Amino acid sequence: MTATLPLPAAPTAQPNDPRFETVSCYLCGSTDSVELLWGEDDLTGKPGRFRYVTCVDCGLAYQNPRLTVDEVKEYYDGEYIAHRKKTDWGVLTPFYEWAMDRHDRQKDALVSRFIRLDETSEVLDVGCAVGTYLQTVRRRHGARVTGVDFKDLRAHPSLEGVEFHCGLFYDQPLADRRFDLVTMWHFLEHDYDPARTLATARRVLKPHGRLVIEVPRLDSMTYRLFGRRWPGVQAPQHTVLYDRVRLLRMVESAGFEVVEYLPYGAFPAFFYFFAGTAFTILDGKGLDLQKAIYPYFAGQLLLAPFLAFEKQLNFAMQTVVCRRKEGDR
Ligand SMILES: [Zn+2]
Repeated sequence: MTATLPLPAAPTAQPNDPRFETVSCYLCGSTDSVELLWGEDDLTGKPGRFRYVTCVDCGLAYQNPRLTVDEVKEYYDGEYIAHRKKTDWGVLTPFYEWAMDRHDRQKDALVSRFIRLDETSEVLDVGCAVGTYLQTVRRRHGARVTGVDFKDLRAHPSLEGVEFHCGLFYDQPLADRRFDLVTMWHFLEHDYDPARTLATARRVLKPHGRLVIEVPRLDSMTYRLFGRRWPGVQAPQHTVLYDRVRLLRMVESAGFEVVEYLPYGAFPAFFYFFAGTAFTILDGKGLDLQKAIYPYFAGQLLLAPFLAFEKQLNFAMQTVVCRRKEGDR
């Protein structure tokens, strides 16, 4: 925690706390909202309570007030799983690595249904973390790969061969109409300015390029099951909780047309069943990933017959594939 002493040690979203800032709706600009839920950092158990609201005018669910950028950084430190700092999982290391590689292959399989990549293709991953997805793309298609992340991860060996940009996506000097494919895997729900991010994606995308966005889906089975302990809340990192309608409206208002909408993603829905159950039992105490990995794999085996319906049953994720609007190509 930062040394902001007379304030309570744990940030709790309230109007006078300088660690927070009030925002208006990311989709329609309205300041009119009703309370939706109070979220916590269930994954790490770090203290703090964060308020989510629903916009009265357009229905978008978002965190308000939100932590300032400086304050939220702390919540990305340490064992944030996407940054893959932890590599030793004991005897389960090969399973862990297989699961993570499988995730990157799933992303590639999903994208490959909508765009054919080769060695002339330019691919950009926004929120690339340590770049393992981009490495998969490079290995499989020979494409040139670029990644942006606000964490400086350039020393990480898996970013070798990736054109890595550190900082905010819309601040990067990326040429107009450069990319055949822009991907955002679980990025947009973390974003402090999604409209600007989408406008930038449109600018850097080639006329016939594709933008692929995966985010957790608010109007899903797992949200109905777990409510404020839904892993998609992931407070305070998640700034926006998208349902299908609001996700589509967001991309369309940024000048995209939807090629396809999928009620699933490359990210395993099982994680949301598992973590939602664990978060409900732990009641905000944080999940010990080292201990959780055994029941995680056991549960995955048990639920396999049910999980076979992942693509039909709207468990937890959503993916939208878009292109520039017709007149803009
Ligand atoms: Zn709104």
